[in-house]
Amino acid sequence: MSQSPVSPGVPRPTLTVLLATPRGFCAGVDRAIQIVEKAIGKYGAPVYVRHEIVHNRLVVERLKALGAVFVEELEECPPDRPVVFSAHGVPKTVPAEAKARKLLYLDATCPLVSKVHVDTGRHFDAGREIVLIGHAGHPEVVGTMGQLPPGAVTLIETVEAAEAFEPQDAANLAFVTQTTLSVDDTAEIVAALRARFPQIAAPHKEDICYATTNRQEAVKTVAARSEVLLVLGSANSSNSMRLAEVGRRAGAKAYLIDSAEELDLSWLAGASVVGVTAGASAPEVLVQGVVERLSQSFEVSLEEIDAERETVTFKLPRVLA
Ligand code: SF4
Repeated sequence: MSQSPVSPGVPRPTLTVLLATPRGFCAGVDRAIQIVEKAIGKYGAPVYVRHEIVHNRLVVERLKALGAVFVEELEECPPDRPVVFSAHGVPKTVPAEAKARKLLYLDATCPLVSKVHVDTGRHFDAGREIVLIGHAGHPEVVGTMGQLPPGAVTLIETVEAAEAFEPQDAANLAFVTQTTLSVDDTAEIVAALRARFPQIAAPHKEDICYATTNRQEAVKTVAARSEVLLVLGSANSSNSMRLAEVGRRAGAKAYLIDSAEELDLSWLAGASVVGVTAGASAPEVLVQGVVERLSQSFEVSLEEIDAERETVTFKLPRVLA
């Protein structure tokens, strides 16, 4: 199907676009990006960043243009330049290595991820066996498991794994979770653990963060009214992927796209209502790009669908504040 704008004089088909609110940047992502920008401002370029600061292509490309250099391991950082740790958090060995090499480092770990690290350590100190609900290989999971010695944390990804889990001491268990999981899937895994281990210690307040929870709530409302859902976010962004999944379950055909250029208008064939949202690491400019692209081919009527208003902000590290 052609993706070019309609010809002048030809009436454009109408399209209702529902914008999910909240969407896009959360407080942790905003803080992490500011840390890189301010570090470049204070120390000059280049500033090294261990792992993508947040999982978004546009954000990473923009920071590269400002002077950030993204690397996967500390050994790639020269001794005389600052290094920033990404919002996902790092295993304890990383700051230890930075100290040993006398590197100037700035920790952009989201405070809500740091809270999970603290809770994990507390459970360990109390002698509990710890279950982490999360996705293998995600940097946040690597960071949380890396707060403790190898073998201290068991990763559980599914209800089946929760049902098969054989702890060493069933009466002395605790669980924590990755912050960017599906609220509904996690509730099922937690229920499976609680059914088998009623005494399992749980977080005081959900580890799934406010931003993930709010964006999933908002997208449920929008997707239930939409034939197609467009989620702005990168394919390696956990919370963006979860938004597409939640949208699909709510009945929409959901597509995860990095930008308006990836939008294939054939996906919209026969649709009259399209929902749009963005993962917590995706800037609003990407949403506006999609609205503009749709407006070239349709008579767009925009509707903001409000779920929750967010007021959370996090302080910058003192050295940059
Ligand atoms: Fe922090 Fe949640 Fe944002 Fe991750 S998604 S950076 S945990 S606020």
